[in-house]
Amino acid sequence: TTTTKASAQPLENADVLIASVETFIFDCDGVIWKGDKLIDGVPETLDMLRSKGKRLVFVTNNSTKSRKQYGKKFETLGLSVSEEEIFASSFAAAAYLKSINFPKDKKVYVIGEDGILKELELAGFQYLGGPEDGEKKIELKPGFLMEHDKDVGAVVVGFDRYFNYYKVQYGTLCIRENPGCLFIATNRDAVTHLTDAQEWAGGGSMVGAICGSTQREPHVVGKPSTFMMDYLAVKFGILKSQICMVGDRLDTDILFGQNGGCKTLLVLSGVTTLSMLQSPNNSIQPDFYTNKISDFLASKAA
Ligand code: PLP
Ligand code: CA
Repeated sequence: TTTTKASAQPLENADVLIASVETFIFDCDGVIWKGDKLIDGVPETLDMLRSKGKRLVFVTNNSTKSRKQYGKKFETLGLSVSEEEIFASSFAAAAYLKSINFPKDKKVYVIGEDGILKELELAGFQYLGGPEDGEKKIELKPGFLMEHDKDVGAVVVGFDRYFNYYKVQYGTLCIRENPGCLFIATNRDAVTHLTDAQEWAGGGSMVGAICGSTQREPHVVGKPSTFMMDYLAVKFGILKSQICMVGDRLDTDILFGQNGGCKTLLVLSGVTTLSMLQSPNNSIQPDFYTNKISDFLASKAA
């Protein structure tokens, strides 16, 4: 017989959960905000948790912004969150390269937006690509050969609205012609919610293109990989059993929490509905679920 995890329980007594952990890791989109709109009751909930002495950490798979840019977004939304509390997959890519002592005389080829470039720059890495390659076209004249920089030792791929064939070919050459070249993905989200009218192709689509041409699998630094969890647990000196991961997605957030050995809470304020959670096709069960994080405020000590 296989052991399956018990079905998620509705969060009936948030006070018990709050008392049982010292740190809350919050996913951002679908938990704190939706696009550019703050979710109801978030400021009061964060204030309450801070007043109880809880450590709050924010993790996002969206690599388009740097930590600093997310800091501004929190500020614009009226939330006081410091850069050190924010872990975006753009930052994770740079932190990963640092953690493996990626040589400073090597270069990183970036398929992705500004956030990744900003984080690489701050970490002191040389890079090329990014948004400026979004304008580049290939003229396929007979005999045309694309040159690439032989100093590229890593290709980082994240969500990129300016993705094109030039970038695919450049990244592919870097990886295929140098067996030692690293292939790093910020995240592999299948879809994202750029507008609430439909689902949009996520970062996984850009990563998938490079998998297809190189026949290599990337090293993923975003959720559900535990890189950021391990990183922040060490940085803040927290035990994973003392963490509750709060997210709106099963295959990234909840799996991230479970892979890290944390408690998990699914909120239904983002992309997952109760029927998706309870579908027989879903095998990822958080410990608890609730509508939104401000449900923490309604809880009465039993
Ligand atoms: N990637 C992109 C490009 C996004 O736009 C989003 C959400 O807006 C995400 C990933 C997922 O972000 P999070 O991990 O905060 O839910
Ligand atoms: Ca989310």
